Amino acid sequence: MAAPRPLVAGNWKMNGLKASLGELEAIRDAVKAGGAGRAEAALCPPFTLVAAVAAAAEGSPLAIGAQDCHAKVSGAHTGDISAQMLKDSGATYVITGHSERRADHGETDAIVRAKAAAAIKAGLTAIVCVGETKDERVGGKALDVVSGQIEGSLDPDFPATNLVVAYEPVWAIGTGLTPTAADVAEMHAHIRAKLEKTYGRKGVDIRILYGGSVKPENAAELMGVKNVDGALVGGASLKAKDFMGIAGVYK
Ligand code: PEP
Repeated sequence: MAAPRPLVAGNWKMNGLKASLGELEAIRDAVKAGGAGRAEAALCPPFTLVAAVAAAAEGSPLAIGAQDCHAKVSGAHTGDISAQMLKDSGATYVITGHSERRADHGETDAIVRAKAAAAIKAGLTAIVCVGETKDERVGGKALDVVSGQIEGSLDPDFPATNLVVAYEPVWAIGTGLTPTAADVAEMHAHIRAKLEKTYGRKGVDIRILYGGSVKPENAAELMGVKNVDGALVGGASLKAKDFMGIAGVYK
C-alpha cells in the first residue's frame, strides 16, 4: 500500500509581523519551484497574518493553516477565532491540541476533540497534536500517555481525510533534543495501530507527523523513519532556508 503524501507544516507560534511576509514569499516561491518535492508544504502563522499569508500564497501549492480555533462557530467568546473564520480567511489547516496550548490554556483532550470537530465541520483539516512529557518518557509511560491522548482527542466519526496527527514529545519542542530514531519508530507504529483500530483501512492514510526540534541537519533521519509522514516544524519554519532544508528532504 502506498504511503500517504508527506506534509511539512510550519508553526510560527507567536512570531511574525507584516515584515515577515518576505520569508513567506521566499517559502512560497521555493515550494512553487518544486523545493518540497513530493511533500505538501503548509505554514501556520499567527491569526493576525493568516489572511495576508493566504492572499500571498494564493495560486501556489503552499497551504495555509492556523494554530488554534474555538469549538463554537460564533458567539460571545471575546478574543477567540472560529474555524469558520479561518476558512473564510483562506486557511485549509488548523493545529489543535499543541502542547503549549494544553499547558498554557489548560486544554484537555475533550476540548481538543471539540476544536478538531469544529475544524473538520468548517471544512479544514485538523492537525491534532499529542506527546508525552520528559517525566512520562523517563517513567516508561510515553506509549500509554499518547494512547490516552489519541482516544480522548480524536472522534471515531472524524473523516480520516481531514485528519493529521502530530507526535510531538513535549521535551523535544524548542529544546534541540530529539528522540532516537528507534523511539520515533516505536511511537509512530503505536499511533498507526491505534488509528487503524479506530478508522479501519482509512487509518493507514492518516498522516502522522513528527515534531520537536526538527532541523535541516536531522530531517533526513527523522523523516526516513517508518510511519513518519512529514514534520511539524516550529523554530526552523521562521526562516525560509531552514524550512526548505527540511521540506527538501522529499525532493
Ligand atoms: C512545535 O512547536 O510544534 C515545534 C515542533 O517546535 P520546534 O520545532 O521549535 O521544536
